[in-house]
Amino acid sequence: MIYTMGIDIGSSACKAVILADGKDIVAQTKVAVGTGTTGPARAYEGVLKEANMSRDQIDYILATGYGRNTFPDADGQMSELSCHAKGASFLFPDVQTVIDIGGQDVKVIQIDNGAMVNFQMNDKCAAGTGRFLDVMAHILEVEVDDLEDLAAKSDERIAISSTCTVFAESEVISQLAKGQKKEDIVNGIHYAITARVVGLARRVGIRDRVVMTGGVAQNGGVVKALEEQLEHEISTSPLSQYVGALGAALFAYNKVAKKRQKENQQTA
Ligand code: ADP
Repeated sequence: MIYTMGIDIGSSACKAVILADGKDIVAQTKVAVGTGTTGPARAYEGVLKEANMSRDQIDYILATGYGRNTFPDADGQMSELSCHAKGASFLFPDVQTVIDIGGQDVKVIQIDNGAMVNFQMNDKCAAGTGRFLDVMAHILEVEVDDLEDLAAKSDERIAISSTCTVFAESEVISQLAKGQKKEDIVNGIHYAITARVVGLARRVGIRDRVVMTGGVAQNGGVVKALEEQLEHEISTSPLSQYVGALGAALFAYNKVAKKRQKENQQTA
């Protein structure tokens, strides 16, 4: 049995997955704070505890994500673009486009036969990222996890016309002051966040199957808004936020399996 760990040290959250023989998920853990905090250590210790395993039982730990080079316990590192492509292809073997909306960036990745061939990324501004939703949830005095249910109760979408997070925040404050319902404002926010993403996706080219990964994929309201604007169906998984960590654990498995095969050939 080969056990590998993928740890995705993001800007906003840390996710870790332990995989058995490159196919079965033994444990998964996430911590809602990112690089530069206690998040990486807590995700690492948490997933080992969840699996009831110790470090020496793990054959290879591969780190990915924005903070991957600062994690001391990893055996190797890999870019999150490759890891999202790998993880998404594991969950949806026919994927050709991945839209990853994380805490501080958004990436659209084109995939051929399970490997990344092209991508576009916005990491210069909060528009179109989880940060946009975090800011809006804060002024609406709700949790990000509640946004989907709130939008589902809406019967009128309040248009938020600014793409810029700071201007959009002012618009939301003025809509609240006018007495507009929170659910209708959230409905508008879900459409506003997708404006940037649609632009990026069109630049890469959208080919079915389209899969959304990253923390924001857990919000069905954003997924629906994106589907409407892209005119493509989007697949998600309960593991959406773990896709990068899963991809890292899969690459780690490939490394160990290749090494073992070589050793076996040498001894044969
Ligand atoms: P990163 O890897 O960049 O740290 P993640 O892919 O882990 O980012 O996503 C983190 C983002 O996901 C945060 O901005 C957070 O607000 C958002 N998020 C987490 N849970 C939910 C949810 N249920 N609905 C919408 N957004 C969510």
